[in-house]
Amino acid sequence: MEDRHKECLKSNRDFLCSNISLSTGLLAKLSESGVITDEHLQKLQNIKRNDTTKAAVLEFLTEVLPRRAPEAFNLFLEALSESEQEHIADHLKKWLGDICSEDAGTFKSLRAELRSHYERRLASIRPMPWQQDIYLNLTDVFVERQLKLKTNYKGDERIVTMDDLFTPQQTKEIPRRLLIEGNPGIGKSTICQTLAHEWGKQSCGRHCRTLCVHSFDLVLYFHAGDFIDEESVAHAVQKHLLPSDYSITTSELQGIIKAKNVLIIVDAFDEANAGNRTLDRLIEGDILRHKTLLITSRPNFLQNKLSLFDSKFKVEGYDIREQLQHVERYAAHQNIASAPFESMLEEESIIDLCSNPLNLTLLCLLREEDTQLRITRTALYTSIHRIIKQKAAKRLNLIEAEVEESLLRPLYRFAFEAHRKNETVVGENDFKKVKNFQQVCEVGYLTRELSISRLQPEVRFQFTHKTFVEFLTAKHIAEMDREERLNWMQHLRYADYRIRIKELAIDDGFYVEQNEPILAFLFGLLEEESAELTQMASLVIKETHFSSEHHPISFESSCNASHQLLRLLAELNVVPPELADVICKRRPPLINIHHYCSDSCMKGMLKLCNLRFQPPIPMNLIVRYVTRFNPFRAPLLIYIRLREWDEGYIPY
Ligand SMILES: [Zn+2]
Ligand SMILES: [Zn+2]
Ligand SMILES: [Zn+2]
Repeated sequence: MEDRHKECLKSNRDFLCSNISLSTGLLAKLSESGVITDEHLQKLQNIKRNDTTKAAVLEFLTEVLPRRAPEAFNLFLEALSESEQEHIADHLKKWLGDICSEDAGTFKSLRAELRSHYERRLASIRPMPWQQDIYLNLTDVFVERQLKLKTNYKGDERIVTMDDLFTPQQTKEIPRRLLIEGNPGIGKSTICQTLAHEWGKQSCGRHCRTLCVHSFDLVLYFHAGDFIDEESVAHAVQKHLLPSDYSITTSELQGIIKAKNVLIIVDAFDEANAGNRTLDRLIEGDILRHKTLLITSRPNFLQNKLSLFDSKFKVEGYDIREQLQHVERYAAHQNIASAPFESMLEEESIIDLCSNPLNLTLLCLLREEDTQLRITRTALYTSIHRIIKQKAAKRLNLIEAEVEESLLRPLYRFAFEAHRKNETVVGENDFKKVKNFQQVCEVGYLTRELSISRLQPEVRFQFTHKTFVEFLTAKHIAEMDREERLNWMQHLRYADYRIRIKELAIDDGFYVEQNEPILAFLFGLLEEESAELTQMASLVIKETHFSSEHHPISFESSCNASHQLLRLLAELNVVPPELADVICKRRPPLINIHHYCSDSCMKGMLKLCNLRFQPPIPMNLIVRYVTRFNPFRAPLLIYIRLREWDEGYIPY
């Protein structure tokens, strides 16, 4: 029997005991429709005879009816109507009707509140955190993304569009746990934002389909950090999605979430996964198992939880067509000609930056500011950083050196501290230590706006993007003295590991790539200081066993710790001679190129080839899998292969 029916019987118990007549007619109808068995019938008649009708009715209401099948309640109402007790059935129906319409009212106003919240708050994106007044209209600039769906355990993939997000895949069941993985700045948050914003608009018009985001009664849009210290999803909704004067009780909210078809979107798992018990339980299906949960994360953070997801997607970088669409929309939005942006896409030096939406937006901004284009990620962020510094100096009426000394250095330290805790926020206690904190904020990297939360227990400042935290952290480390910096590096992990003991429910893992966003910036920032750079590279060479002989290449091999040096070299414009010497002396007997090698790994290999070691380092490659390479990378790969052939080595 349904909960609300049980509730109805309980609330009206006194009325029912006083008014129901256990007539032969009623009992006959009840046993005819199977609501009571012959034993029940006998028992009720015994109680009626030996005690009172009231006692028999009470027995029926508490011991018999609630334990029968779900349809028993309605059969009971029918039996009442057909045995001249229709007024009792009407009384119960009215009670249920009142409750339902009250529920419906609560639900409708909650839905309206969330819709208007998303419509207002998620309508724009601010890619340039130092200029909150510059924002792009989400609907204008959003480029429909392609997602790669992993179709089996072997890693086969196929391309789907965002329309297919909620479509049942090979199991034919509606997916309940969905994961979208992608690199920093690739547009995961924008996808989440678009979904919630779309839902806020009520319908997507002609292409609204059964399984689009509008098929959900409610969409709850969170940042992973919203669940920290919240004991349930309902608590998180109250604190982060509803204004504090919105009147709804936690149990009403829980009731609605339980009864309705709900989509829970949780952005940035990688930014707030430590000690996040409620989020873990949600992913594991320990709570709200039958609700749809969509999580986004950078790769390699969900290792031990991957198997819990029904559908796993990967957001790829922009292809040429999407890049073009992105710059066209950017130009149209800013109301300027798109030609300079389009020609930018063809510049050899920045081609690999253009596939990342965040970087591409920043490049557009630089192009608008007429800055010379930069060729590595570090150089790009350094240019952005310089613009921020210039603007802050002008605004605060200081010279740039003062901004650097008194405002930016504290900021680098904040970033370093925040990154160490894997956070992107600065808490009250931290910023109280700096006397000119207000000015530090005005530089522009920090905003008061904490994702979309409305109620905050303490004032906190948010770094607008994790990539900026990493860049600023690297700035802090770059300014350390050598000993301190090497000490910091010593404490990083340089080996991948995976521990899995099923019996003890232990499942833990680490991939060295997790350290690379910062290390790569650090390499880029210290490019000119060749002694420091060489020291760092030597440490990486030693810790990752770059020089040693590796396992024979096979289909399963991957771009792992031993390729870290290559991936970091990609961040340099030129490998300084001092470093080239060290690499030459400690080069490995052989380098395996895997079909999983990343773009930066390829770029690093090319740098290595350009050093023209004598004799050259042989490279291994399974040619059979070349077709599996991204077509945009294939020319680079073929180039590496030809170079090696030129120099007399033929890969097998
Ligand atoms: Zn729709
Ligand atoms: Zn190896
Ligand atoms: Zn590699």
